[in-house]
Amino acid sequence: MTTDTTATETRTFEADVSRLLHMMVHSVYSDKDVFLRELISNAADACEKLRFEAVSRPELLGDDPKPRITISADADNKQITVEDNGIGMSRGDMAEALGTIARSGTRAFIERAGEGTEDTQLIGQFGVGFYSAFMVAERVDVISRLAGSEEAWRWSSDGKGSYEIAPVPLEAPPKRGTRVVLHLLDDAVSYAGSYRLEQLAKSQSGHVPVPITLIEKPGAEPRDIADGTALWVRPKSEIKPEEYTDFYRGMSGQYDDPAATIHFRAEGRQEYSVLAFVPGSRPFDLFDQDRKGRMKLYVRRVFITDDADLLPRYLRFVRGLVDSADLPLNVSREMIQESRLLASMRKGLTNRVLADLAKLAENEAEAYVKIWENFGVVLKEGLYDDHERREQLLKLARFHSTTSGEGWRGLADYVAAMKEGQKAIFFMAGDDRARLEASPQLEGFKARGIEALLLTDPVDSFWVTMAPEFDGKPFKSVTQGAAELSDIPLLDNAAKPDVEISSEIATFLAFVKTALGDAVSDVKASDRLTESAVCLVAPEQGPDRQFERLLNAAGRLDKAAKPVLEINPRHERIAALAKLGKEKQAFKEDVAHLLYDEARVLDGDKPVNAKIFSERLARIIAQGLSQS
Ligand code: ADP
Ligand code: MG
Repeated sequence: MTTDTTATETRTFEADVSRLLHMMVHSVYSDKDVFLRELISNAADACEKLRFEAVSRPELLGDDPKPRITISADADNKQITVEDNGIGMSRGDMAEALGTIARSGTRAFIERAGEGTEDTQLIGQFGVGFYSAFMVAERVDVISRLAGSEEAWRWSSDGKGSYEIAPVPLEAPPKRGTRVVLHLLDDAVSYAGSYRLEQLAKSQSGHVPVPITLIEKPGAEPRDIADGTALWVRPKSEIKPEEYTDFYRGMSGQYDDPAATIHFRAEGRQEYSVLAFVPGSRPFDLFDQDRKGRMKLYVRRVFITDDADLLPRYLRFVRGLVDSADLPLNVSREMIQESRLLASMRKGLTNRVLADLAKLAENEAEAYVKIWENFGVVLKEGLYDDHERREQLLKLARFHSTTSGEGWRGLADYVAAMKEGQKAIFFMAGDDRARLEASPQLEGFKARGIEALLLTDPVDSFWVTMAPEFDGKPFKSVTQGAAELSDIPLLDNAAKPDVEISSEIATFLAFVKTALGDAVSDVKASDRLTESAVCLVAPEQGPDRQFERLLNAAGRLDKAAKPVLEINPRHERIAALAKLGKEKQAFKEDVAHLLYDEARVLDGDKPVNAKIFSERLARIIAQGLSQS
């Protein structure tokens, strides 16, 4: 030993460290909480290094073979201590590891260890984690003894340009390993509260491969808060359902049971483990615009971030984590976001979640329907967001329909039940199911036994207007132009077959069209109405009327497409009106406008002009009274 074991030495940080420290405090981590994660990760790292060294030098473990991390709090003295019984540091290690960044101890270790490093779960390749302690501490002391060494050293710094290294008398230091003492800044004293420490340690580091013990205050009993095993690395077959549930509850803060558990390990070009859950109930903030995804990213069991964008937005209800074996424990979240590794994990994970949902839909239809009832609205966002997976998502989608009652229909079932001559999947969009079911536009469909989907979520109008197909069948709104009904035979017991339009009716239609002028794009005899006299439909090329309404409400509609007024030529009232002569001109004018307003009201709209509407209505009533 050539080291002078009595000298205290003051050294300046490498220029890069000073810069880094400045960055740490001012910009790098917006979230100061991570200091604990970094210190625990270093402690776990040190234990892993020792385990690796002890393979060839078992004597290093001495009579203390079990790795352990102990966190102690001393709020009165504004202190937090993180201690491990890992590999420890020599004087030289300290100067190098805690005074420079170019040669991180971890990186040097990986180089030295060469082959076989895959076996050790080494974390951190950028060597900046330790300095995050200065986000919460005005002074940091590191007391450490290298495994197998007789000397112990104290490193100490206020993070402002220099540090001190001094020998420690042998009664004081750990027998082996490192003790990091944080002298907290005034605005960080709350971290020494035991509840906060425990929550942080559990949520950020509850799954590092080393058990964690907490000593809440000086003299308190040590309490185990993490057992050192990560649930997701254990084989599926050995994990009990209760363990999954506990884990889910711990990570989500919800107290329900998960509706689905997705646990797998991807191997090959990329290695990562996934443990994810579909919650059993809706989280309250599901529709919060700012709500981020809820998948956490770990790297080799160390928590990195919970906003790594690991799933598309339409799967934001899924909670869980991805643990990558390939990513570095990186200082910058931005770098993680741009990583190609992340993109391919995102893809693999998304496909897997959808595949597992599809399996569930097939094998446990009831359980799946519960998921759909909670999260279908969100999943449907994928129908317009994720073009590539639209077909897959359409298979997962469930709908209410004119024939489903309270139940749900999948599209495969819909297609299987399509009528002879039916070429499209018909739907009607609107916000009120009861009004939809009663709407005149559906009459011709009912008369032919044709099922129509009732799309009542606002999101429906968005995807359905992107002209999707399912199984080669286009979606078609029942309110849109010619709905191809005449190709499909009526049910036996339905109203009389279509009759030819008499010239009387044709004249009446022309009259109504002239009376309404610009208000409508056309007036036509309807083959979809069997009971009602009138209804409005969108022109052949126009958008679905419900969609148009939504655009209008959002102020995004330049010019509304004028609707087509369809009139039921077989309706008694219409037939009688058509017979009226020229002398009833004024009456017929009023009627023409009232028919249009009637159709609007049936559509859930208001009459064009309330005042004129009531005047017309009053005139007609007065005439009726004078004749009776
Ligand atoms: P990284 O962990 O990414 O290497 P850090 O800044 O977190 O970077 O730590 C720097 C180095 O300090 C580590 O690589 C390690 O050599 C050393 N170190 C930090 N904490 C400990 C510890 N508890 N035990 C042993 N060495 C440590
Ligand atoms: Mg580290």
